[in-house]
Formats: sequence, C-alpha cells, structure tokens
Amino acid sequence: MPNQAGSGQDALGEGQPGSWVVNWILGKYGSLFPEGAFDLELTPPTFGFLFDIDGVLVRGRYVIPAAQEAFRKLVDSNGQLRVPVVFVTNAGNCLQHVKAQELSDALGLEVSPEQVILSHSPLHLFSQFHEKCMLVSGQGPVEENARNVGFRNVVTIQDVRKAFPLLDMVDQSRRPKELVNINLWVILFGEPVQWETSLQLIIDVLLSNGNPGAELAAVPYPHIPVLACNMDLLWMAEAKMPRFGHGTFLVCLENIYKKVTGRELKYDALIGKPSIVTYQYAEYLIEQQVERRGWPSPICRLYAVGDNPMSDIYGANFYNRYLKAACQARAQAEVKRSVGVADPRSEDHSEPRKDWYVSLESCKSILVCTGIYSPHGDVPVDPHESVVKTVFHGHRDFCFDTSLVEASYVVQDVNEAVELVFEKENWSQE
Ligand SMILES: [Mg+2]
Repeated sequence: MPNQAGSGQDALGEGQPGSWVVNWILGKYGSLFPEGAFDLELTPPTFGFLFDIDGVLVRGRYVIPAAQEAFRKLVDSNGQLRVPVVFVTNAGNCLQHVKAQELSDALGLEVSPEQVILSHSPLHLFSQFHEKCMLVSGQGPVEENARNVGFRNVVTIQDVRKAFPLLDMVDQSRRPKELVNINLWVILFGEPVQWETSLQLIIDVLLSNGNPGAELAAVPYPHIPVLACNMDLLWMAEAKMPRFGHGTFLVCLENIYKKVTGRELKYDALIGKPSIVTYQYAEYLIEQQVERRGWPSPICRLYAVGDNPMSDIYGANFYNRYLKAACQARAQAEVKRSVGVADPRSEDHSEPRKDWYVSLESCKSILVCTGIYSPHGDVPVDPHESVVKTVFHGHRDFCFDTSLVEASYVVQDVNEAVELVFEKENWSQE
C-alpha cells in the first residue's frame, strides 16, 4: 500500500500552495488520512469572532446566560476555543489582564489578555508617538494603561495641575505644589472625573503649543497632536437611562476649542470602535491566535457581534467596506501586473508586496437585542426607518451613512449569533 502521506506531498509538491497544510496535518495526525480526519470538529477554522462585551456577554456585573451557552458551543472537550475569538470593547478605564480575568470568570474558559482589545489598545501601533511626552486624560489606571501600550513619558492632568497651579482656577482650595517645565502632546483615554479641570488644562496645553507655562502671542494652528480613544456618546450601565460617555467629553472639548479659537479641533487619530484601526488591530490579534494554535488555514471571514448600532455595527460594516475596497484595489493591481503596466515608480516588481497575501475577505455585523438595541424600544423594527428616525450619536468626524448602521443580521442574543454563524459556515454545533 502506498504511503498516503508521501503521495500527498508528491501531489502537492514542496513550495506549492497547500504544502504547508499537508505539513500541519502530518504534524498533528501523522497521516493525511487518519481515521476521523474529516470530522467537522477537526476542520481548521476559516472564520473568527469579534465579540463586544457590555450588552452582549455581560450587563454590569451580571453575565448574560446566553453568553455562557454560546461559549459552551465555542470550546472543545479540552475547554479550548475551536475558532479564533477576540473581545473588542470601547471600555478603557481598566487593565487588559483584569478584563481578561473578568471574562474568564464570566464565561468559564481561559481568556488571555492578548484576546482583549480595550478602546486604547491599538495605541500599540502608534510607535511614532511613544517617545513623546504625553498628557493623558481619563480615569482609572490611565497612566499604567499608557505605559502598557508603549508610551514612556506620561504626564497626568493632576501633574499639570500641580505644576501650573494658576491654570486651574475653578477650585480655589487647591494650592501650588511644584513647578516643572514640560512639553506635551495629548491622549484622551476616557471620560475624566472633574471635567472642568481636564477641559481647562487640555485647552491650555493646546493654546500654549504644549507648554502651558509659556506665553504665546498667537494661537498655534495646527495645534499639537491629539489622540482620542472611545468616541461613545452614551453608554448603558445599571441605571435605566444612558450615561455620558467619552464622546460627550469630546463634544465639550471640540466646542470649547472652536468657540475660543474659531478653528476646528483636529485629531491625529480616533481609536476604538468604529475606527478602522481598531478592526485592523483585531485582525492582527486573530492572526496571532491562529499562529499560536497552529491552525493552517487563513481566516477569511470575521463576524462582529455587538449591541450598539452606532459603534459595533457601524464599525464592522465600515471595516467590511474597507476590506472590499482593498480587495478590489489588489485585483486591479494584479490585472495591471499581468499585462505589464505596473506603476514604474514602485520599488520592486519581482515580488508581490506582503499585503498581497491578505486573506480576510469580509467582516459581517450581527446585532443582538440584549443591550442598547431593542427591537421593541425606541428604535423601529424596520432598519431603514430606524436609521432615518435615530439621532446620529456617532463622532463628528464620522459621516452618518445609513447603510453603515444596518446590521448584516439581527438576532436575539449572542447564543443565537453563534448558532447562526455555525450554520452559515457548515460548522458543527457540538
Ligand atoms: Mg456594548
């Protein structure tokens, strides 16, 4: 009897597409055709999930029961995830490993910090800012979060208040402590406490070109770089009415800046859902997970499950549109290459660029009804009617395109979302 593994290698050939799949199967099963190799549970995944947390998996301190049910379907008999999963939240006032532990406890499986994206996590990618002296605004472990994503020189609002005591005049009881000379850029992590202090001092830093001790004859414009995370205007906690989110703080800051200077406040980056960079970072973490697990197939489809049409659904649809455009651009470039009309300015025609191999084709949005969105609440059931009648709560710099807030699918809860995806992917439920 011929050696099946050998014949498989011969058929595909070393260096041919598919040979690495063969090697993976040989490494894992010892043969190309071991008993049960084609059972559904042994099929490597070609899709992955991005789960929002609040309103999808938990409400405040309570776990949504459908989440536990969904994750029983997502793990194998060893408690290992059968498909790549990343948790993407716009929350930011906590540490990544703490959020991972909370999820582990809630869902009954081991969630690693590398599977969690907080609103500020993509700041890892902004290495051009990491050596600058950054003023960080927000609450919780904001300084530690800034250092964890790569910033080395971090100054808090409290540091500035102490260094320039005459600037924060609202609370007269706070007295000078020390004076330092600093040259700042700004990161807005999340909504702070005592907004008036943060608003005053951030405006001071912008108007003084990063040195609030300096006197300037004219307002500098463009102003120093500003990065902002988490644009959510409102969020749902345990109260019945929504609470102000960081997006509301940004509205205040933008309007004060415009009123004072007559100019628009500009951001060098807006991070967190629905920004593209957050989904690019999620895709990167999914790829890393696939690599760690030794899954041989590239991930072609992502399913983003969320409860907020303005961030989760808008973001997933926006990224899907971006992927389609990138795919089209690659196809057009390939046509040009094949007929020999490649751009003569490009540096190297002998090898395709690395991003030529990009595998991700789509990012579908799935809206659940366990959080902000309710089909029986203020938002009408008909998606078109709902987006026309809904006030746009998105950020100033994102256009209100009604098609972007219409979900690919609407289901009751996250368990139904997982069942739906398994059905679409012909994936076994058990
Ligand atoms: Mg949510």
